[in-house]
Amino acid sequence: MKKFIIASLIAALTSTCLAQSLPPSKIAIAIHGGAGTILAKNLTTKQQQQYQEKLTEAVDAGYKILNQGGSSLDAINAAINLLENSPLFNAGLGAVYTFDGSHQLDASIMDGKTKQAGAVAGVSHIANPIDLARLVMTESVHVMLSGEGAEQFALKHGMPWVKNDYFDTDKRYQSLLKAKQKLKALDAKSKNNAEYQANYRQIKLDYKFGTVGAVAVDRAGNVAAGTSTGGMTAKRFGRIGDSPIIGAGTWADNQSCAVSATGHGEYFIRYHVAADICAQVQYQGKTIKQASQDVIFGSMKQAGGTGGVIVVDPKGNIALTFNTSGMYRGWRVEGEKTHVAMFKE
Ligand code: ASP
Repeated sequence: MKKFIIASLIAALTSTCLAQSLPPSKIAIAIHGGAGTILAKNLTTKQQQQYQEKLTEAVDAGYKILNQGGSSLDAINAAINLLENSPLFNAGLGAVYTFDGSHQLDASIMDGKTKQAGAVAGVSHIANPIDLARLVMTESVHVMLSGEGAEQFALKHGMPWVKNDYFDTDKRYQSLLKAKQKLKALDAKSKNNAEYQANYRQIKLDYKFGTVGAVAVDRAGNVAAGTSTGGMTAKRFGRIGDSPIIGAGTWADNQSCAVSATGHGEYFIRYHVAADICAQVQYQGKTIKQASQDVIFGSMKQAGGTGGVIVVDPKGNIALTFNTSGMYRGWRVEGEKTHVAMFKE
């Protein structure tokens, strides 16, 4: 017994010394505000400036936390909250409308150190769904809660409840009206489901960008990822996209990388995009840049999947990869300044 205690003490002391002697990691954060047909000609100078300012604010808020020694989870949470609270993006305030004219939001978060994760789907009364996803991760024995049950859980934990019209914006309402007109025309012209799917893909491209997400690595080398969205305009029947699905829209693992995705969710679910990128890094030794390009421009794109990802690894490398004309994005790596961009370089 004595021997065992001494051996345990030595092991504990050695691991503490090793942990203390490890050099601190290079910190980094990347965010996105959705991918899609984002072209300079479709945005006024004022709109471009508004996006640039909000993206910069979100990157800087997250980076500040990392720079003060805070965790990657706190950094991505803060950055996502700022984007959720801005009507510019399809998450929180400014979320898109469902076919029936309401809002149903999805979000997820993952901690790369512990591989703990939390997600909520189809919530209608929570201003910051990423906070609820985090609460599911830390305060429940589950990974994903949906609809009314998720909101009961939120109330139980003292989270504020908002009316569904809190999310209303005129811009998104106009998008709903346009989408519904196009859907009506689709119904009339599509002879079968295959035709409907092909036509649907075309009309949807313009109506789904604005999902938000963030990935970060902190000084301890822990990565984290989170994603929050209103989903797709005119979604029906309680449709859930990739954003709250761990492995599809969000993934984080210290062994490889952290990913937040945005795009046509049905494809990101079927191609298991976020986890696939990190699996290629872990098992095939690819860089995050290579793995994200192989996935985003690979068979998913050939099948018709559009969108993009932001990725960070524990060494502080970042990748921002998309197969659309643009992706609202921002990033900062230690030793560099904040960058934001919207269009292809
Ligand atoms: N991926 C989201 C969804 O399918 C939409 C988006 O990222 O624009 O719900």
